[in-house]
Amino acid sequence: MIIILKNGASKESVDKLIASVQHHGVEAHTIVGSDTTVFGLVGDTSKVDIELLEQNEIVEAVRRVSEPYKLVNRKFHTADSEIGVGNALMGGKHFGVIAGPCSVESEEQIIEVAKRVKAAGATFLRGGAFKPRTSPYAFRGLKAEGLRLLLEAKKETGLPIVTELTSLTNIDLFNDVDVIQVGARNMQNFDMLWELGKCKKPILLKRGASCTVQDLLMSAEYIAAGGNEDIILCERGIRTFENATRNTLDLSCVPVLKAKTHLPVVVDPSHATGMASLVAPMAKAAVVSGADGLMLEVHNNPACALCDGMQSITPDTFESLMADVKRLCEFEGKI
Ligand code: PEP
Ligand code: MN
Repeated sequence: MIIILKNGASKESVDKLIASVQHHGVEAHTIVGSDTTVFGLVGDTSKVDIELLEQNEIVEAVRRVSEPYKLVNRKFHTADSEIGVGNALMGGKHFGVIAGPCSVESEEQIIEVAKRVKAAGATFLRGGAFKPRTSPYAFRGLKAEGLRLLLEAKKETGLPIVTELTSLTNIDLFNDVDVIQVGARNMQNFDMLWELGKCKKPILLKRGASCTVQDLLMSAEYIAAGGNEDIILCERGIRTFENATRNTLDLSCVPVLKAKTHLPVVVDPSHATGMASLVAPMAKAAVVSGADGLMLEVHNNPACALCDGMQSITPDTFESLMADVKRLCEFEGKI
């Protein structure tokens, strides 16, 4: 971290400033230029409050030169992390495909979709049992019964399950779930992230609709700091002024994230675009952007889906998309 001082600061106020950073165990190295004085802070600056420093009357500006996230930072862990369940991995050379309906609606629905996506090459089954809905009057999921049906579908197909935890109060119901999803709305539920740090399962962390890449990495750092480094990041579209699509798919965040972190990055073009016709083109673009996997909403009857039918592709579309994804993965050197 670098602190640039205003001209004419008194020695007394400079000494006070140095003492305040030394209080956090950080050394301040002084660089005196012809018209500016700069301090370079050396040591762990994670406890130094930038906003507080910026408000100091002798400070012109403060710049971070190292990132506030450490455990998820590629600088300290250069190799790609490979995260998943058994042979179903994401990261490094491994490409994963999480597919299934937005929400679990019935036994027939989830089992039929699970069989179809498995046959086409999906490596994980998704399906919401607890649904975070904008309207309290919308279908909010089958809850515990939905989790039971997901486990039935897992028994039928062998596909590991990814499903969303919307509240820590339900965590005891998730013992047999393979990957716990933290949805966009809970990405900054720091108490939840901290608790998930104590759990021994991979966490799929979806980017909040108004969150930056650094916000996402800091949320991942919460889980890692809690003790769980098995984290998969998911770009699912952000809120912008554009309203032609449900959200704006920020595909450039994929190579940005891949440079900053060793964690795998998955793209969800279903929630990002909100339109079934856009899912296949953006899924293919995601593979080429360097993503380690896809999350796709697939429904056997999108027109009658209880949630997100507009953006759900059919099993037939999924099958033809998977043929293209496989070719693109070969091109990208992924398996
Ligand atoms: C979902 O995956 O069904 C979901 C609700 O996603 P998001 O949190 O990205 O909106
Ligand atoms: Mn959905």
